[in-house]
Amino acid sequence: MIRFEEAIEIIVTSEFNASTERINFTQSLNRILAEDIISDIEMPPFDKSAVDGYACRKEDILNVLEVIETIPAGKVPGKSIGVNQCSKIMTGAPVPEGADTVIMVEDAEEIGLNKVRFTKEKIRSNICYRGEDIRSGIVMIGKGTLIQPQHIAVLATAGAVNPLVNKKVKVIIISTGDELVEPDRKPVHSQIRNSNAYQLAAQCERMGAYAEYIGIALDTEDSVRKMLNHAFECGDVILLTGGVSMGDFDFVPKVLSELGVEIKFKSIAVQPGRPTIFGVRANQFIFGLPGNPVSSFVQFEMLVKPLIYRISGYNYQPVNIVLPMGIEYNRKRSDRISLLPVRINLQGEALPIEYHGSAHINAMTEAHGLIQVPVGQTSLKKGELVSVRQI
Ligand code: AMP
Ligand code: MG
Repeated sequence: MIRFEEAIEIIVTSEFNASTERINFTQSLNRILAEDIISDIEMPPFDKSAVDGYACRKEDILNVLEVIETIPAGKVPGKSIGVNQCSKIMTGAPVPEGADTVIMVEDAEEIGLNKVRFTKEKIRSNICYRGEDIRSGIVMIGKGTLIQPQHIAVLATAGAVNPLVNKKVKVIIISTGDELVEPDRKPVHSQIRNSNAYQLAAQCERMGAYAEYIGIALDTEDSVRKMLNHAFECGDVILLTGGVSMGDFDFVPKVLSELGVEIKFKSIAVQPGRPTIFGVRANQFIFGLPGNPVSSFVQFEMLVKPLIYRISGYNYQPVNIVLPMGIEYNRKRSDRISLLPVRINLQGEALPIEYHGSAHINAMTEAHGLIQVPVGQTSLKKGELVSVRQI
């Protein structure tokens, strides 16, 4: 059994070699940039009015101004501003030559045909200057960025319509267990529905990986071997659930070794998820996750997700927020790190979710995050600060 920190270290230092492709930027949500995006323009591209109003010379604002033209957004001004003149200007339109200030329409009064007057004492320029947001040639977003909606706006602005991204990681999912039936069937006698495969596929897809579930392996060496051989043909990452404990029919570790998988660890001092296996075979990564759905959910978040991000070329830093405990928490044993699902209440306190054990999957539906209770620690006091990792 290895320490949990060691398991994480093994994961985040895994060797990888991501290949790249160009895709349309509208399809790039959750992909990882494989090049720097350089701006080929200045933003704003011209001195731009920040408001609807009247562009004029600051030194004239106490005088009555003559309106000489109207400049809508998207139109080049035709006239330059002279003494006691102004042009009516819309937000986003180029500021005409000669003007250094825009009076907001709310701060102006029309006092006759094409005549306006400033009605306040103080004025700001109300101009966004050329290049003030982005200078041409600068890196707007760097290689290794996880593309989110706000990055898509940047890609659009930079005209990077076909960015180079790392190829999606392909994850093959296998469930194991004679007791499993698919969700569209009603379990009878000793059966239960297969929930892990679908949960894991959704966890993969949420983070931008491509997931393919290939079915249930029976609890025989032969069945597990066949499914794995199929998975090795096409997966970058292979996730198995179940069959990793010490039961008479838990064949996953044995078959993995036979098939040439170099096992990096197979038991971690963590709860839930002790019997988690991680191995490598050529450039493929294999996880044997515990069958219990809470364990497989949690170990996906803690180990599989960082691994997938790493081989996607993304330097993943999980978001942790420090919050006070809303109630006291106690546990009897402390020989393993505990990963506790918590809910965050409206007061911003972390409340451990009551769950009966790692099979109690509907407890997870209320969780906002996970907290870690270190080895050797049996309690957390109310008010004590804990680090909540978002899930
Ligand atoms: P195992 O790791 O195979 O010993 O399974 C541990 C527990 O998880 C058992 O109660 C299994 O029935 C349950 N389990 C295993 N695989 C799944 C699955 N795909 N979906 C839901 N529960 C599962
Ligand atoms: Mg099983």
